[in-house]
Amino acid sequence: MNKIWAYIDHFKGEALGASWEALGAAQSLAGQLGGGVTAVLFGQALDELVALAFQYGAGEVLLADDATLLDFRSEPFSSLLSKVAAEAAPEAILFPTTTRGRELAAMVAIDLNTGVLADVTALEVKDGAILATRPVYAGKLLAKVTCQARPQLVTLRARAFARPALDPARTGTPLKVAPVLSEADIATKVESYARVEGGVSLTDAAVIVSGGRGVVNNPALTPPAGLGEKEAEIWKAQQGFARIKELADVLGGAVGASRAAVDADYIAYPYQVGQTGKMVAPDLYIACGISGAIQHQAGMRASKLIVAINKDPEAPIFKLARYGVVGDLHAIIPALTAAFKQRLGK
Ligand SMILES: Cc1cc2nc3c(=O)[nH]c(=O)nc-3n(C[C@H](O)[C@H](O)[C@H](O)COP(=O)(O)OP(=O)(O)OC[C@H]3O[C@@H](n4cnc5c(N)ncnc54)[C@H](O)[C@@H]3O)c2cc1C
Repeated sequence: MNKIWAYIDHFKGEALGASWEALGAAQSLAGQLGGGVTAVLFGQALDELVALAFQYGAGEVLLADDATLLDFRSEPFSSLLSKVAAEAAPEAILFPTTTRGRELAAMVAIDLNTGVLADVTALEVKDGAILATRPVYAGKLLAKVTCQARPQLVTLRARAFARPALDPARTGTPLKVAPVLSEADIATKVESYARVEGGVSLTDAAVIVSGGRGVVNNPALTPPAGLGEKEAEIWKAQQGFARIKELADVLGGAVGASRAAVDADYIAYPYQVGQTGKMVAPDLYIACGISGAIQHQAGMRASKLIVAINKDPEAPIFKLARYGVVGDLHAIIPALTAAFKQRLGK
């Protein structure tokens, strides 16, 4: 079996983009360490995903297809991954930094008595081992870390690695493995799934337009009569976030927010970017009415291009931004949206 494995995280057969990034990173490592790449797929009825894994460059696909693996549950997934990894002894297993990827990597590390290089943004090879770069101290420092034990388990930050090219001509036959646990051995059951408001995939978005407390600051707006003070404040913020969404839509992006906006009930928690929210690394991050507190920066400073709109020229966000616009976001955002609409022919 191949030396570098990539765990493909998916929900009901739909892979998260970061899974293919892990497969791409595995190919680059295999090129340096030698040995090929195995994509690891656990679930049920995954034929399409198996085909995609080969097309994205997997040399092998390790497939467990079973009713007990229909939903992600840490017990059957970790027991199976630990068993096959103990038998096949890969050099490394790469996981996307999703909630499931993190949980699985941690449990497998305990089973196999190894370590996890977590939330990694760059990989290189030194003396035959992985040297991983990971942001620490809210992204203020970059640590280079290695793992002495094997397999080296690595979780990769979403969008920090390129997705490999898809070759529709590549095909293959998966290697099948059977689950370790039967349904009777598994304590947890998934009862149901419910879609939550704001259930957006911020971590996969190439463009994010985020709003902060400044979104509410629009003296030109008059709330409808009869609203209480807090209701009027939330109404104003919602108008502001509607303009932010228009800009995000024109750019094919997602909406984000600061914690101050979430705490003030302007927008729901799933939109929060930062130390206690989502870690994002889009190609373009537009911060609107966000001061740029260290905890916010922790979640977005890995963005490839940062643009800040703020009426305070001293706002810390400008130290991070490549482009800064000093002014009122309520005037600038509609103007930007109109200009992009025209430019992009939308
Ligand atoms: C343990 C801990 C964890 C935290 N986690 C997070 C986190 O995950 N994410 C996060 O974001 N924060 C987090 N915070 C909070 C963080 O410290 C800041 O309080 C928060 O980021 C501030 O949000 P803000 O920039 O929207 O608000 P403010 O700091 O109040 O900034 C508002 C900005 O809007 C500008 N502005 C006002 N009106 C306009 C206008 N009309 N046009 C243009 N600009 C305007 C102002 O100049 C100002 O710069 C955390 C704090 C702690 C203690």
